Amino acid sequence: MFKLKIIYFLVIYTLRGTFRQRKVLERFQQRKWQRFRKKILSHSPFYRELAQQKADLADFPMMNKATFMANFDQINTLGIQREEAMQLALKAEVERDFSPELKGATVGLSTGTSGTRGLFLVSATERAQWTAMVLRRVVPIQFFKRQKVAFFLRANSNLYSSVQSASLEFRFFDIFQPIEKLLVALADFQPHILAAQPSILSAIAEAQLAGSVNIQPHLLISFAEVLNDADKQFIQKTFAVPLREVYQCTEGFLAVTCAHGTLHLNEDIAIFEKKYLDETRFIPIITDFTRSSQPIVRYELNDVLVEKKEPCPCGSCFTALERIEGREDDILVFPGAGGEMIRVFPDLICRVIARCAEDFRAYRLRQVGALELQLELESEDFQAVSSTISTALHRFLQEKGISGLSIQSIQGIAREAGAKLRRVERKIVSN
Ligand SMILES: [Zn+2]
Repeated sequence: MFKLKIIYFLVIYTLRGTFRQRKVLERFQQRKWQRFRKKILSHSPFYRELAQQKADLADFPMMNKATFMANFDQINTLGIQREEAMQLALKAEVERDFSPELKGATVGLSTGTSGTRGLFLVSATERAQWTAMVLRRVVPIQFFKRQKVAFFLRANSNLYSSVQSASLEFRFFDIFQPIEKLLVALADFQPHILAAQPSILSAIAEAQLAGSVNIQPHLLISFAEVLNDADKQFIQKTFAVPLREVYQCTEGFLAVTCAHGTLHLNEDIAIFEKKYLDETRFIPIITDFTRSSQPIVRYELNDVLVEKKEPCPCGSCFTALERIEGREDDILVFPGAGGEMIRVFPDLICRVIARCAEDFRAYRLRQVGALELQLELESEDFQAVSSTISTALHRFLQEKGISGLSIQSIQGIAREAGAKLRRVERKIVSN
């Protein structure tokens, strides 16, 4: 049944083709929204009444992770209680067995920096839809001959590991395992397609260069973390094969790069409202038509996206992105001279650092009260490299009206196994 569903959705998505005109897309989205409102929201106690009275999306309340979790019991359409779902998810996490289901849905757990733990429910149909969508968008048609796909994941639901068919074999690699062990398993598997977060792709590329692993994938897929230019170039140089980016979070499969390397929002599966921070930067607010067990309606994400102004040569009218800038949580905030708060986007910091120094492998800048610069070096001269970067950062921040800051440099990056490596992060220290 599951495989049939995947094929069914794959046919639908393939027939749908490319949307080239914004007007056509908007009409399509409206049709989808109305259907979603009548068919799905009517089963959600939280939305039922509103869905009967109002037709306009704008009349529905905004959501964020905190309000979404607070209303978990009422929002989901399966009558699942937050407590029982949390118990199941925590148990799966501890036992590393993500197969148990609750009323036909698997339960996944997302941990954020903002403190609220997110719970998400995924039914078999949604899983099939997700799989078909990824295959259709990311894996080119000619790749459909018996492909082995290596998927590196942090603890998650069995959403990904369940895909196995005559033409595709997915293997799940648990990133909480030591990297040496993963490399042995990877060499043994010899994947055609390698899908992992950028920090893992980088680590595998480093191992490939060092000769400690030898694989020949045809295609690389990067997801879960933001792929920065330096990592992208390093990974591509090492493997010399196409690298596709999937922008995805627990709330859904949001964007993917086209053949021209442009990241496009998946506007045929969701409506993206945009909360602008300036002319091009925005925070997406999504309404996802593909989620039926746990409706996502006007849900404000935590990411800052940068819109691309010129149309993409691929012809798709889906919003093109210049880049994903990172989480809103990671915008650095400094007091200005007049007591006002000055916000600095992480991406700008990354560019300052990339411009001024070359002799380092990785860095991380954290704002934990003072600024803390962690550096992993290729050269021996930690003092010189760190002071070059500190000077450049001081100059850059001064131009923004921020002065009198101290930057503390630390050799080596404190990494937690399985955790995302964020280049620039802001940690709120609470007492
Ligand atoms: Zn494009």
